[in-house]
Amino acid sequence: MRSTMMKTPLLISRILQHGSTVHGDSEVATWTGEGSRRTSYAEVGRQAARLAHGLRELGVTGDERVGTLMWNNAEHLVAYLAVPSMGAVLHTLNLRLFPEQLIYIANHAEDRVVIVDSTLIPLLAGVLPHLTTIRHIVVVGDQQDWQTVTAKLQKDGVAVHRWDELLQGRPDTFDWPAVDEDDAAALCYTSGTTGNPKGVAYSHRSIYLHSMEVCMAESFGLGPQVRDLCIVPMFHAMAWGLPYAALMSGASLVMPDRFLQAAPLAQMIAAERPTFAGAVPTIFTDLLAYLDANPTDTSSLKEVVIGGSACPPALMHAYADRYGIQVIHAWGMTEMSPLGSIARAPHGLEGPEMWAYRYTQGRVPAGVEGRIVGPGGEVMPSDGKSVGELQVRGPWITAQYIGEDGPDPDKFEDGWLRTGDVGTLTPNGYLTLTDRAKDVIKSGGEWISSVDLENALMAHPAVLEACVVGVPDDKWGERPLATVVLREGASADAAVLREFLSEKVARWQLPERWSFIEAVPKTSVGKFDKKRVRADYAGGTLE
Ligand code: ADP
Repeated sequence: MRSTMMKTPLLISRILQHGSTVHGDSEVATWTGEGSRRTSYAEVGRQAARLAHGLRELGVTGDERVGTLMWNNAEHLVAYLAVPSMGAVLHTLNLRLFPEQLIYIANHAEDRVVIVDSTLIPLLAGVLPHLTTIRHIVVVGDQQDWQTVTAKLQKDGVAVHRWDELLQGRPDTFDWPAVDEDDAAALCYTSGTTGNPKGVAYSHRSIYLHSMEVCMAESFGLGPQVRDLCIVPMFHAMAWGLPYAALMSGASLVMPDRFLQAAPLAQMIAAERPTFAGAVPTIFTDLLAYLDANPTDTSSLKEVVIGGSACPPALMHAYADRYGIQVIHAWGMTEMSPLGSIARAPHGLEGPEMWAYRYTQGRVPAGVEGRIVGPGGEVMPSDGKSVGELQVRGPWITAQYIGEDGPDPDKFEDGWLRTGDVGTLTPNGYLTLTDRAKDVIKSGGEWISSVDLENALMAHPAVLEACVVGVPDDKWGERPLATVVLREGASADAAVLREFLSEKVARWQLPERWSFIEAVPKTSVGKFDKKRVRADYAGGTLE
């Protein structure tokens, strides 16, 4: 029997229309360095219509790709909504990629228009000669000297426009087309630690369903009562879906623009009083050190979601004990839109029992199915003990990469995505990742989790950050190298830290090689760059 239900497509334009009317009073506040400039979701809706009219005039009439080279701000939100709603495809360009990677992804996606923040003109100007498909550039923000801007962005066949002028005088409504819900709405490329970045095309449907999941109490618990400090960049895995989920739920957004260091973030928290925030561990590590040294009013902030790489338990406890902020650990991937799991403990637990769940990567939401697969391809029990590669499938998980003939067998198997992450799953869906497959340290036939060693080290009061990688060893094949950043004014040497570690991990896992460094190198999305640490060691730059 068929259902009697209406089949209305799940579209970004629905999220836009809902957010800008039902939640028209919710706001987006963009930090300017001192205070914020504010605009309502009702105004965001009008701006989105004006932008869509402007882009139509520039020849965006079908599924052309519109790139954004932007910080998190109100204009980027307008583009997030307008571009897919008009039937075009949003491509968020990661402004921290190496120029050759930026060129690769813009050409690979065939970006026709690029919307660029005026502070990023030098970056765009540097790659522009190599961008083959671009026809229009739209510049957002103050440009005192327009002639200099156009001179920098001079290229045959490319027209340069000011955002304000492109939107000026246009109607503040748009007849949003009824696109197919399975058509591409937005593109994201992985940050490409090996080889060229790989692209994923999210559909209207996948974004809609993912946004609903993000809003749920079990996930980020969004609603009009929430003020979300959206630190995770809009060019990294769609800012974890927060911009769309905000419009859907009425949560207000506090956007940090380019002010992503600990001091301005603390200032923003005191001034804008967010209740919720999301970012990678390294940002919250820096922020914690800043708050400890510079007392700031963080009383509004109740929950922060930390994901993107493993969150050290010591960081969770520090925020809970010192600031009353609950850290909620989450795991995901660009390929997964990105939400894959979120670590809320089963209802009713307290104390150590609750914390044991909070340390995990969390449980999978209803839209994600996971399984653990052994080295020979055998599916292993979800018993919380059997260790293997995690595979996932679901309606917001990609089935292949853009431009490839089909699913690459290294990354996909029987309709499942191979995550490259190694860990366990419990019968009630809690995931614990021991490591990325490529970062596990293989020592004499045994595996050492680099993450376990890092978490244990980062619990030492003198340690700000610790990054552990496997390095070649004549006897064991590989052994751990611990690179450590000490807190300002703190001291500890290898002997002290080895002693500290010996209480927490097996003796044979203790690193013999130590290096005390100024800062751990980070990837374009703020994760420990283990490839670089290994290369530095091989090149003799590390002891
Ligand atoms: P990239 O691969 O370029 O870093 P992604 O942001 O898509 O881009 O990275 C996804 C990967 O990040 C996951 O496969 C996993 O290895 C890691 N990751 C994300 N969240 C967590 C977490 N909470 N704990 C451990 N690893 C995580």
